[in-house]
Amino acid sequence: MLIIDNILIIIISLIFIILIIIFTTRNNKKSYIVREFYSLGTSNQLKAYGKKASKAIEESIIKVCEIDNKMSVFKNDSEISKINKNAGNKPQIVSNDTYYVIQKAIKYCTLSEGAFDITIRPIVSLWGIGKEGQQVPSSNEIKEKLKIVNYKDIVLDKDDRSIFLKNKKQEIDVGGIAKGFAADEVKNVMIKNGIKSALINLGGNILTLGTKIDGTPWSVGIQDPFKTRGEFALTISVINKSVVTSGNYERYFEVEGKRFHHIINPSTGYPSESDIVGATIISDNSIDGDGLSTGVYIMGVEKSIKLIEEIEGVDAILITKSKEIYVTSGMEGKFTITGQEFVYKNRI
Ligand code: AMP
Ligand code: MG
Repeated sequence: MLIIDNILIIIISLIFIILIIIFTTRNNKKSYIVREFYSLGTSNQLKAYGKKASKAIEESIIKVCEIDNKMSVFKNDSEISKINKNAGNKPQIVSNDTYYVIQKAIKYCTLSEGAFDITIRPIVSLWGIGKEGQQVPSSNEIKEKLKIVNYKDIVLDKDDRSIFLKNKKQEIDVGGIAKGFAADEVKNVMIKNGIKSALINLGGNILTLGTKIDGTPWSVGIQDPFKTRGEFALTISVINKSVVTSGNYERYFEVEGKRFHHIINPSTGYPSESDIVGATIISDNSIDGDGLSTGVYIMGVEKSIKLIEEIEGVDAILITKSKEIYVTSGMEGKFTITGQEFVYKNRI
């Protein structure tokens, strides 16, 4: 009798354990969370898998909004606005985040030989692209403001953690790099929460964490610059990579059929008219991809391919006005052209 009782208890316990295992694995499969939110002047989407996905996403949104509060040029009390108000007057002490972003930005200003220049803000606000009152400024206004565009006038003091602009009226705009930083920070929050698979999309800047839940790579579409949003020129498969694109379709207005977009060439003060209409950078960290994509867009195909080939672990896909696609050597064979009218060029 006692033996039968014991066997019964063991069987019931086993069934119980099996049920718990089935229940928890089922729950894990379901724990795939997607959230959309507005910050950094754009709409963002976070998708994460895992038990703590919900918590990780909540924390990520808080982090992105914190970055926006520190770095937005449209917020009066952001650290960037404070730096700008103190231009020509006194240095502004900033947080580690803002200091790091400006330091990285200056690296890409230098590498791009000033094509990327975060002191472009006075020109950007003259155009007001994407804002109320957007307009083509007079050439005199542009000439005047161009005089104060020079990233070499940014003075960093590591000990004080302060930033100083040498000349009055100079202004910084980290809009061309902050989204990349924010994406990297979101990835860190995800990892801290034990998330192994996530898709971070900040206004079209993509950062993937791990693989998809089924172990296959993420497929990322590269926007067709000639079509409406969501139509792709090509797709690439990536694991643990950042895919950041600068394009003339992101923010623009048109006058008499001519498009004036938001990427300004600092040597002319006008929207960039290089041969590129879409510049994608593939890298491990999104801050590098974002910092490079804006400059590369302005530099044009030839110079950009040369520059990106020299940077270890970074690749580029460039789409030109005449619908040609150029890639750096690390990307060869790793993409699929989906837009029929595009032509792949394997040499410059
Ligand atoms: P992205 O979408 O990353 O290419 O960044 C474009 C944003 O960067 C613009 O909306 C401006 O705020 C800013 N920007 C425009 N032109 C430049 C430039 N030449 N260098 C640095 N930032 C720029
Ligand atoms: Mg950028």
